Amino acid sequence: RDPNVKKPAWLRQRAPQGEKLSKLKESITTLKLNTVCEEAQCPNIGECWNGGGGAGGEGDGIATATIMLLGDTCTRGCRFCAVATSRNPAPADPMEPENTARAIARYVVLTSVDRDDMPDGGSDHFARTVKTLKALKPELLVECLVSDFRGDLNAVHHLASSGLDVFAHNIETVKRLQRIVRDPRAGYEQSMAVLKHAKTLKGMVTKSSIMLGLGERDEEIKQTMLDLRDAGVDIFTLGQYLQPTPLHLTVKEYVTPEKFEYWKQYGESIGFRYVASGPLVRSSYRAGEFFIESMIR
Ligand code: SF4
Ligand code: SF4
Repeated sequence: RDPNVKKPAWLRQRAPQGEKLSKLKESITTLKLNTVCEEAQCPNIGECWNGGGGAGGEGDGIATATIMLLGDTCTRGCRFCAVATSRNPAPADPMEPENTARAIARYVVLTSVDRDDMPDGGSDHFARTVKTLKALKPELLVECLVSDFRGDLNAVHHLASSGLDVFAHNIETVKRLQRIVRDPRAGYEQSMAVLKHAKTLKGMVTKSSIMLGLGERDEEIKQTMLDLRDAGVDIFTLGQYLQPTPLHLTVKEYVTPEKFEYWKQYGESIGFRYVASGPLVRSSYRAGEFFIESMIR
């Protein structure tokens, strides 16, 4: 961490507990699934897994969990991300689609490491998981938070037409900082093209996200939000970047909760159906509840 930038009190969370959370935890462990929530020690686990209600208790909203498909090792190396990297990760687990369907959640975010080693970037494994989930549990809502598939729009199309409810792809940061923050194989235009393509599928709901605190300027954030609206993006989230280890990019600024509120209002004023914005917001933060809310607007 940059020694001149101190971590503020608003980033602290209470230890999570609750009955819904315990049940979900048990099913995830039994099914040998990887969740981003646990792997990244996400501070929102109490709220997301309990379906709202805060870290200390249960809410009556829809419980959300983010499951990581295709293994725990990535072929890329973004400078904000703590996931392990390798050129040749282990093959994908063929039981993953069925096991994911058995986890006790109403809203599942499926995400994955980037598999540049697989010819289709893992698009078919993803699509099969969505189809299996929908066949076994038609009431389940499925969001896919995907890679850019190296800009391969056929792979994007294959996944986007698998029956998922929300297609999410994170642009991560403003245009100027792409090269510094993301793996060089990713990029602003490529990500915009992926989102634009997904939106061409009838009835598709799309979503994207950026991290704040990496040195971006207000006008650059606005431009990114306008570009995402131009690409047809429906749901947008903003959260504080936190440095996972000293080897990762340093935090340039801790953005205040008031400023996050400003971005929420600005986002809604330019036409996003829903904006989740706050220091601890992650792209999958209480995604189930917000999805339902955005649908009835
Ligand atoms: Fe992490 Fe995704 Fe980048 Fe891989 S592609 S290093 S999982 S952010
Ligand atoms: Fe899991 Fe995302 Fe919620 Fe964190 S914000 S607990 S990763 S669903």
